[in-house]
Amino acid sequence: MDGWQFGPAQELRRAFILDDTKLGPIHWYCPGKSAAVVMSVDDVFPGTSQSAYEAGGDLERGALGRLLWLLERHPQLWLTLFVTPDWRRLSPVADRFWRHVPWLRDRVYLAIVLPKGTMDIRNHPDFVAFLNTMPRTEIAMHGLHHISLGHPVSVEFQHQDRASSAELLAEAIRIFKESGLRYVRGLQPPGWNCAPALQQACRDVGIEWITSARDIRTPVSKDAKTGMSGLTGVSLLFPERIAPNLLHISTNFQATSAPERAFEILDAGGILSIKAHITKNVPGHTHLDGVDDLYMNYLDRLLVNIEQRYCDAIDWTTLGRLSISLSASSPTLLPENGATQPVAYRAA
Ligand SMILES: [Zn+2]
Repeated sequence: MDGWQFGPAQELRRAFILDDTKLGPIHWYCPGKSAAVVMSVDDVFPGTSQSAYEAGGDLERGALGRLLWLLERHPQLWLTLFVTPDWRRLSPVADRFWRHVPWLRDRVYLAIVLPKGTMDIRNHPDFVAFLNTMPRTEIAMHGLHHISLGHPVSVEFQHQDRASSAELLAEAIRIFKESGLRYVRGLQPPGWNCAPALQQACRDVGIEWITSARDIRTPVSKDAKTGMSGLTGVSLLFPERIAPNLLHISTNFQATSAPERAFEILDAGGILSIKAHITKNVPGHTHLDGVDDLYMNYLDRLLVNIEQRYCDAIDWTTLGRLSISLSASSPTLLPENGATQPVAYRAA
């Protein structure tokens, strides 16, 4: 249980938290803690400033060095890095001509892509070794190639059925394993999108948690539901079991969010789930939450304020550790239950 105790809630824990057949938000707590902080970073792959673009490949001299600085400044902070096993997307922007050609536009890559294997992490052992030595850092999956035929360019899981989605995930897992990267069983779907077929495929390959929904607009309350990117209608503040053996945790804060939003989430007893993207500028697009000095300084100040304001009341954890704490994590997946359907979704 990784130090988690549920004290007087043992009955609740037995009746709900460890019962993977019961769906819905989990209003968890542990004695002495009133809220939690997690932080995750998307789009990590071995790209360097000498190749496609820097996305972690420059190691301590690049964006990963900035994250290490933040970790050093805040010894309680943990990170989840979402790594793409074989990144192929050069730009998220569709070609102006091809995107208007009927039929064909759904059957070609609308942006320039890297050849398969170029950024395959098995070909970048120094990158893998560096990730494995980062302190208080867990690695989870961010698709396989982070590219799709047709539009939108970045939403990898959108046309596939359950079996095809499971094949892509299985290939991603195989690359992770063969590279020697230490990882946990979680997924951030590229482009936020998590269709029912992908939710089912996650369970087929043993992925135990996902982070699909991003909502940095909906006002904070205990009952708030997501309504922005990815899954809609799931809890904004609390982990939610969206299917047997599949936990979801929303992203509710990024660089453009005011500090007051963080305090409101923590005051409500929720999980402050901070998002960043490893690269600030990619061809044709700027990530507002890119890991640059400005965002790191902002988070540094914010985390200092949280540490002073809430002292020991915060559980500083990761998405993967939360998931382990809140699920049975049985190696044997529960049988399909026809009464439980994947939750509704919409694309980012
Ligand atoms: Zn991404």
